[in-house]
Amino acid sequence: MYWNQHLETMPREVLTKLQLERLQWTLRQAGKSQHYGKIFADRGIEPGKIKHPEDIRRLPFTTKENLRARFPYGLLSVDLKEVVRLHSSSGTTGQATVVFHNHKDIENWADLIARCMYMTGVRQDDVFQNLTGYGLFTGGLGFHYGGERLGALTIPSGTGNTKRQILLMQQFGTTVIHLIPSYAMRIMQVMEELGVDPSSDLKLRIAFLGAEPHSEEVRQRVERYFGVEAYNSYGLSEMNGPGVAFECPEKVGMHIWEDAFLVEIVEPQTLEPLEEGQEGELVLTTLTREAMPIIRYRTNDLARILPGQCPCGRTHRRLARIMGRTDDMLIIKGVNIFPIQVEQTLMEISEVGQNYLIILERRDGIDTMRIQVEVRSEIFQEDMRYLKGLEQKIAHELRNELLVTPKIELVEPNTLPRSPGKAVRVEDRRMFETAGS
Ligand code: ADP
Ligand code: ZN
Repeated sequence: MYWNQHLETMPREVLTKLQLERLQWTLRQAGKSQHYGKIFADRGIEPGKIKHPEDIRRLPFTTKENLRARFPYGLLSVDLKEVVRLHSSSGTTGQATVVFHNHKDIENWADLIARCMYMTGVRQDDVFQNLTGYGLFTGGLGFHYGGERLGALTIPSGTGNTKRQILLMQQFGTTVIHLIPSYAMRIMQVMEELGVDPSSDLKLRIAFLGAEPHSEEVRQRVERYFGVEAYNSYGLSEMNGPGVAFECPEKVGMHIWEDAFLVEIVEPQTLEPLEEGQEGELVLTTLTREAMPIIRYRTNDLARILPGQCPCGRTHRRLARIMGRTDDMLIIKGVNIFPIQVEQTLMEISEVGQNYLIILERRDGIDTMRIQVEVRSEIFQEDMRYLKGLEQKIAHELRNELLVTPKIELVEPNTLPRSPGKAVRVEDRRMFETAGS
């Protein structure tokens, strides 16, 4: 049941002690880099003076801007000859950042992912198809090494060529898949078009969904359609990539592996620490990384720690589902809205298909929200009254959730743009004021 029972079920006091040792080691290691070397010298920081993991609050945060300013090698803590791998963020919010690994880092990372996969029931006799980008993006190679470490047959199918993906699933009897949620929705659509029935034509039993925010409703659609148990996977390239936090079979929050990462939640403006249960910005420190340790990294992700212990017996704390990044929040007519709230509501409506796009415009100085929603194609055979009624129903449901009434436009399946990587849910046209209508 456990990949590493000792580490996964460690009593909290023992875990805290391990964290302290690893934190002191991390600070010494980080001090070898240009970036932290200078900070520690300027501020007179001595790793030996850190007596409790909470003492980390005396150290400054690290931001994406710091990583960019020190690009490319300024945070490297080992000789370049020791470095064996480079990964990069997807660049969703601007210039991508780069992270380096040595052999040990790659091994530790693979082990963490094997731990995640094993936790959900993946075993050596599983056939694991990894439908994520192999390249600078961390989802591909990260899960690939994890699958191999566990001993599952690992198929590096990458992204795209959806028909071939489905064929591979059929030919090799794939039981476990890993993919970003927007691609899972795409595959559903293609399977429907091809007349593939997952319950009789495929052997899938487990799916890992990660790398982008998605709602509980999307998880449930994936579970129902593919007949799988779907688990939420969270990570970011600055902290290796996937393998930072992962759902266990209880599916109530994602265990953050606290033997490898030190977790803080801070108020995004004041940066003051928040209590357990309060939502704020997630801040993470690597505890085992050798080539490029990162201290107090501001993830920009809004997260909340679930209080209480998990019935599965693991002692590592759990993160609630992530609503998005601090900069994903839209402010429309003075109301704060996260795109994932739109998704959650849309996906509960059975007529709604697999894709949507939020368009923000400014007319006569007033912000408006328009949402294009793909609906099942047979719906367009209905008369205008039915279609108008459906638009109103969707607008009404959204108004209840968001407190703002969006304009709804129904569109045919496969008409909205799809990005090759992470889904782009919002098109903000507010800088080009639209003439009054
Ligand atoms: P980028 O920040 O450029 O997208 P990454 O590929 O490193 O680069 O993506 C990490 C980010 O993806 C996280 O910081 C988070 O915003 C998002 N993310 C990853 N996994 C999840 C998840 N399970 N739920 C919500 N958001 C996620
Ligand atoms: Zn658990």
